[in-house]
Amino acid sequence: VSVFKGRKVALFGLGGSGLATARALVAGGADTLVHDDNPESVAKAAAEGLKTADLRGLDWSGIAALVLSPGVPLTHPKPHWSVDLARAAGVEVIGDVELFVRERRAHAPDCPFIAITGTNGKSTTTALIAHILQSSGRDTQLGGNIGTAVLTLDPPKDGRFYVVECSSYQIDLAPTLDPSAGILLNLTPDHLDRHGTMQHYADIKERLVAGADTAIVGVDDSFCTLIADRVERAGTKVVRISRRQPVADGFYAEGSRIMEAHQGASALLADLDGIATLRGGHNAQNACAAIAACLAVGVSRDEIRAGLSSFPGLKHRMQPVGRKGAVLFVNDSKATNADAAAPALSSYENIHWIAGGLPKAGGIASLSPLFPRIARAYLIGEAAPAFAATLGEAVPFEISDTLDRAVAHAAADAERNGGEAVVMLSPACASFDQYKNFEVRGEAFVSHVAEIEGVTMLVE
Ligand code: ADP
Repeated sequence: VSVFKGRKVALFGLGGSGLATARALVAGGADTLVHDDNPESVAKAAAEGLKTADLRGLDWSGIAALVLSPGVPLTHPKPHWSVDLARAAGVEVIGDVELFVRERRAHAPDCPFIAITGTNGKSTTTALIAHILQSSGRDTQLGGNIGTAVLTLDPPKDGRFYVVECSSYQIDLAPTLDPSAGILLNLTPDHLDRHGTMQHYADIKERLVAGADTAIVGVDDSFCTLIADRVERAGTKVVRISRRQPVADGFYAEGSRIMEAHQGASALLADLDGIATLRGGHNAQNACAAIAACLAVGVSRDEIRAGLSSFPGLKHRMQPVGRKGAVLFVNDSKATNADAAAPALSSYENIHWIAGGLPKAGGIASLSPLFPRIARAYLIGEAAPAFAATLGEAVPFEISDTLDRAVAHAAADAERNGGEAVVMLSPACASFDQYKNFEVRGEAFVSHVAEIEGVTMLVE
């Protein structure tokens, strides 16, 4: 990034994307001073030739900006926190997404830039948009909060498309965020630890769509509905999306059918029936958002339909991984609490449900409306006794203890009972009692499925 060429900037936070940001600033000619609370990170940065300085003793008068790396808190228990010092000296505090948007404005203001935020579905929507763009032959860069840090993507140039997932933290640190299409999927209470109140959290998220050329807003919750109205009144073009009810202008779902509405008249745009990676009402919301964004940046309806049908899905999130006859195997290892397991359980029936691990507060009682969809549960890890108590008489279960046994038993039962069935790992628990993380747990599930005789794998 050359927007600070010849000027002095400070950077705090030397994790992976902090380092990437520091390198990008240096490569763009900025005199960059870096720091972190962790002495090892500082030593590593110094070893690769970055200029380190303890920002607490810095003379801020000659500094153009303080750049924070994702994950560094804006408030800090310690006095002499760099953010407070910088702000007191009138120095702006920004993040990597802000550096990206300034770079784009300076060098390729017309290159399509889609930014995505919301409480749930960000990664799926981001990946789906990138897939539609890529599969229609467009030069596509995907990054931000998902995967690659924005500043390590190929630099902005005309004809290149950017699909960037933004956390509220990144939006907060991007005062001039101006995407071609901005998506706000939904807002439900979450992440309150960092932002204090839901209203404050909503205000931050609103900025992503308020600054967009086209604002795409999910109107299935009250916060987002108010935001759509407010942003529209301020003069921004708003496209509303809903998974629950028709909208007059925008996109909405009727079951698996995605409808496009203009001034109250609607037509079928795409049918998600049969697209295994986009099952469920929550994915209908994600698909509506992706469709709206792709249309806003000039993708044709045919290209969009083709991209939807070939979407490979995200790993560990309701990911179909294998099939044997009428039995489908689904990896939803990312579901580390009951709320996260609910969409997967809502999307299938006759489920042979593998659940358990390190229990989270609240357990699985909130899932009881979905229990009728479960044919049998296979409980693993430390949560098994508590889950067994909650399932009680309502759902037949066994305590399998380990994932390999759970997969083998569930597969055998599903096959024996005949008919369409699903064997799904959607654990509603953290993985740390038995696995390093949810990814390793998901991979273990996939390899146990691959061991089943006669199974056809849908993934490598
Ligand atoms: P995020 O990146 O926002 O965490 P993901 O796309 O990774 O979201 O999805 C994580 C989980 O959240 C999914 O497995 C699913 O259970 C749920 N989910 C996905 N999309 C939505 C949505 N639009 N609304 C509610 N829940 C969703």
